Amino acid sequence: MEFRNLKKQYEILGPQLDAAMNSVAAGSRYIMGPEVGQLEEALAQYVGAKHCISCANGTDALQLALMTWGVGPGDAVFVPDFTFFSSAEVVAAVGATPVFVDVRPETFNIDPEDLERAVRETLAGGRLTPKVVIGVDLFGLPASWPEITDIARKYDLKTLEDGAQGFGGSIGGRRACSFGDISTTSFFPAKPLGCYGDGGAVFTDNDEWAELLRSYRVHGKGSCKYDNVRIGMNSRLDTIQAAILQVKLKAFRDYELDDVNAAASLYGDLLDGIPGVVTPVVPEACRSSWAQYTIRLADRATRDGLQAALKAHGIPSMVYYPTPMSAQTVFAGMPRRECPAAAKLCDTVLSLPISPYITPEEQRDVADAIKEYVG
Ligand SMILES: *Cc1c(COP(=O)(O)O)cnc(C)c1O
Repeated sequence: MEFRNLKKQYEILGPQLDAAMNSVAAGSRYIMGPEVGQLEEALAQYVGAKHCISCANGTDALQLALMTWGVGPGDAVFVPDFTFFSSAEVVAAVGATPVFVDVRPETFNIDPEDLERAVRETLAGGRLTPKVVIGVDLFGLPASWPEITDIARKYDLKTLEDGAQGFGGSIGGRRACSFGDISTTSFFPAKPLGCYGDGGAVFTDNDEWAELLRSYRVHGKGSCKYDNVRIGMNSRLDTIQAAILQVKLKAFRDYELDDVNAAASLYGDLLDGIPGVVTPVVPEACRSSWAQYTIRLADRATRDGLQAALKAHGIPSMVYYPTPMSAQTVFAGMPRRECPAAAKLCDTVLSLPISPYITPEEQRDVADAIKEYVG
């Protein structure tokens, strides 16, 4: 069994993908070819944002946003304690300080109440200026954007939506990657919408920021590439990846997002009522794009034991994530805050195989193996 069945996707979309890749190879416009602009338009339209600026990966996308806002030394950026490393890495990379915020165990996403506490503590500390909150749409579920946005407005923070795993999700019909003042995503192969290498994108409604993002993406260019008006990055999306994404975006909209939701709902039925297994919940009005299907077990020993038992059945599973951000070695010098929910999740989560291409038989095998272990 595959953890995320990208081979099956290629079997189905192969002829179209091959044609798209070959056309780029034959056309020789490998950097910023026409497919890049076409994809940016399609992505902006899908997400419901005015501008899409594609770039080299989801980490650069976040960093480009912080650079655009001039975030740097002395600034506090609020980041969930339970996320992929990039969400906090980019904060330190621009010289700002990540302040870690606890998450809600039911949604895995940033806890708005703890966010407000963290902002007040930072203001009281008087050493750092609160500037930005990074909300992460973890595992495909949009963060609590209405609540996060209220707090951000109250304390004059900008909102940065890390939608690397969230592309395709929605709240009340409004799509992920449109919730932040700036929003980002990643096209790493295993993300909800993935290419065949690294890729990313930034979304915003703000014209001025969009122009700055386009400049920072190509060496801080001014009127042309050889007129450099600021220090930027080399972070373009390859034409060949844009061509691949055009094909994959169509499949994603036409059926993949529906199919992965059907798979998640089947897991919900199959795993319902198994003692000690907590399945993920999708709050009212939300839709997930199921970057991961993550269950919670009672404690670390049970989780590790289940992972070993699944492995013995040939079923791959992953621990996303084993370490809270605040416990990462490199962040030892950062402000300390207690984030007990994040710490507990690191000990108890297990992500099961899922993709639009998983079969009901495979899902039954997973559920049976879990029942056997728990029983
Ligand atoms: C994957 C991921 C990123 C980084 O994306 P890359 O394209 O791998 O740089 C950032 N944030 C989160 C939450 C992610 O899962």
